[in-house]
Amino acid sequence: MTLFHMALEQTFLAIKPDGVQRGLVGEILGRFERKGFKLIALKQLTPSRDLAEKHYGVHRERPFFGGLVDFITSGPVVAMVWEGDGVIASARKMIGATKPLEAEPGTIRGDLAVNIGRNVIHGSDGPETAKFEISLWFQSSELNDWIPAEQVWRVEE
Ligand code: UDP
Ligand code: MG
Repeated sequence: MTLFHMALEQTFLAIKPDGVQRGLVGEILGRFERKGFKLIALKQLTPSRDLAEKHYGVHRERPFFGGLVDFITSGPVVAMVWEGDGVIASARKMIGATKPLEAEPGTIRGDLAVNIGRNVIHGSDGPETAKFEISLWFQSSELNDWIPAEQVWRVEE
């Protein structure tokens, strides 16, 4: 059997304070585990204002920016890096539309949220954002790569 290394992507995901307060951490982690993505880093923290403002910097001029930063710094966030083929777009699909009432059933927001300001989870929206967000939230020493025991089952397409 040939072992090979596919072109892997990494993405940054964060369970927001509402997801943590509502006890949804296990439910959400389980979805990405069951899908088959690989957990590379995980930590729980209450973000500083500086971190939150950098993370949402692209929205700085939007009317919801202040409230968004207030909320994201109001309590614990579970920050994660996940790896896998196509994980950036796939995680966005699994998360669902920004407005939970427009998110499809089966998605995290579609199943677990109703309010745009309390939509449970963040996910990077592209490769550049993913790179930026991973390095904003994590030191490189916190990223732990590992070889899944079932790696030999992976097949080339
Ligand atoms: N948001 C909000 N009001 C809006 C638009 C966005 O409170 O009108 C919040 C919402 O929590 C969203 C976050 O700002 O998740 C970032 O917005 P973005 O458009 O990047 O949505 P996402 O990438 O999270 O789907
Ligand atoms: Mg976004």
